[in-house]
Amino acid sequence: MAQGRVYLVGAGPGDPKLITVRGLKALRRCDVVVYDRLAGPQLLQEMRPGAERIYVGKRPDRHTMKQEEINRLLLDLALSGKIVCRLKGGDPTVFGRVGEEAELLRQHGVPYEIVPGITSAIAVPAYAGIPVTHRDLASSFSIVTGHESPDKLDRMIQWDKVTNATGTLLFLMGVAKIGYISEQLMQHGRSADTPVALVRWGTRAEQETLTGTLGDIEEKVRLANFQPPAVIVVGEVVRQRESLKWIESKPLFGWRVLVTRARSQASELAERIDDLGGEPYVFPVIDTVRQSDPAEAERIKAALLEADRYDWVILTSAAGVEHFFSWLAETRVDIRRFARARFAAVGPKTSDALAARGIVPDVIPSEYQAEGLLESLADKLAPGQRALLPRGDLARELLPDELARAGVECVELDVYENRLVVPEEDLLAEMLRDGEIHAVTFTSSSTVVNLLKALRRLGVEQPAELLAGCVIACIGPITARTAEAHGLRVTLTAETSTIEGLLAAMLKHRAPDTILEEERF
Ligand code: SAH
Repeated sequence: MAQGRVYLVGAGPGDPKLITVRGLKALRRCDVVVYDRLAGPQLLQEMRPGAERIYVGKRPDRHTMKQEEINRLLLDLALSGKIVCRLKGGDPTVFGRVGEEAELLRQHGVPYEIVPGITSAIAVPAYAGIPVTHRDLASSFSIVTGHESPDKLDRMIQWDKVTNATGTLLFLMGVAKIGYISEQLMQHGRSADTPVALVRWGTRAEQETLTGTLGDIEEKVRLANFQPPAVIVVGEVVRQRESLKWIESKPLFGWRVLVTRARSQASELAERIDDLGGEPYVFPVIDTVRQSDPAEAERIKAALLEADRYDWVILTSAAGVEHFFSWLAETRVDIRRFARARFAAVGPKTSDALAARGIVPDVIPSEYQAEGLLESLADKLAPGQRALLPRGDLARELLPDELARAGVECVELDVYENRLVVPEEDLLAEMLRDGEIHAVTFTSSSTVVNLLKALRRLGVEQPAELLAGCVIACIGPITARTAEAHGLRVTLTAETSTIEGLLAAMLKHRAPDTILEEERF
């Protein structure tokens, strides 16, 4: 049997981009991941298909796994030959109990690696604009647990020494003990005016910061009902926040935005949401695959072999372009045989996909949907012309119908199929229930239909109701109509049916005063 091994990996503080390259490599190659609540759920999407996930964190409906059980689980998985990734929030060696996990593995001769991560103790203050050291204000820091009961804390922490040993004090797991902690620090010599900040869910959409002083912070935490998990920062560096805070001023800060389009197309939208300070949550519900029906495949090939008989080739999606060319390659039809035809593209993405293959389209409408395309084509069409329409199986009938009315003979080819995908992911329904998804983006009617189907498959009985609390953002009027027809209340529709148009509409809603950089449009 293959030798198992365990990677003890720090996932970083929450933002999925804050994992190390080495950690990501371990996650991508493993057979099974063992994770808990502090490791960001988006990271799990990096796992290879079919890899197993085991949640060992707190859950209201089940008992929480004890540390000994987790140690044993890691060992058993490795002994059965699996490559295991134990994903932990922050850095695994900072209050991560990695020592106990590694020790048992060592005793049984199971190889392991410790992959450091970015600890929340430093990263979370940084995301709130607080550097833990500063040339003039603090030349050292301590990371202290606030987890234990006061008498145990007293035994483990030498308050007199901790209080005065270093400049900045960082307490993890200390929200519930904030009163006791501040009292001890004051008793042992820190002034009541010492600035304090609590930063909860740092680096995530829920990030929130509360500031005060040792003298008043307990009261403030109580009044705000400020909940864990949070990093407590004590020291002069907290004053830096006023001038250095940065992420909060990004226009989509605080929003977790669901991206439903095909994985191959999702990254552009996800990156832009991230740039604008939002947190993308990628949950692709659709995938475009090659036409699989043999009869349709024969029809496609036959139609392509008549390349020289078309006056128009009309493409309505980038996926359509990609599959059109793959069928050409398969049929060994040279694109030059379409020399007689003019090419039309529905919008800039389709046009870019064509241009990348050396074809500059003759027609691109100003309004990026079938209606706009028809308008732009109107004065160029003539009865008796032939048009080829390589499209997906869910394309609307408007285009062929209207072309036919203009006397153009249409050959429609379903070069690709849209498939429903249900991501291996059970957290989305939970996140929606807990109000952790703030906006949902739909970039086509099929993403609407498929998201509702995917949620039903995940056990949600009334998916439209579950989405009622979210901002529903649609790329254009057709998508919006589909969403309304399925019982969703559409909050906003892009004026221009592109990703940038969709982002502009979201910004208008969320942060009406921001102006997107012009050149992006
Ligand atoms: N190994 C982890 C710490 C585990 S102890 C690390 O290096 O970050 C768990 C504590 O970490 C929480 O109670 C909280 O104090 C802190 N923490 C972890 N992630 C956090 C986050 N995103 N925001 C605020 N605090 C966080």
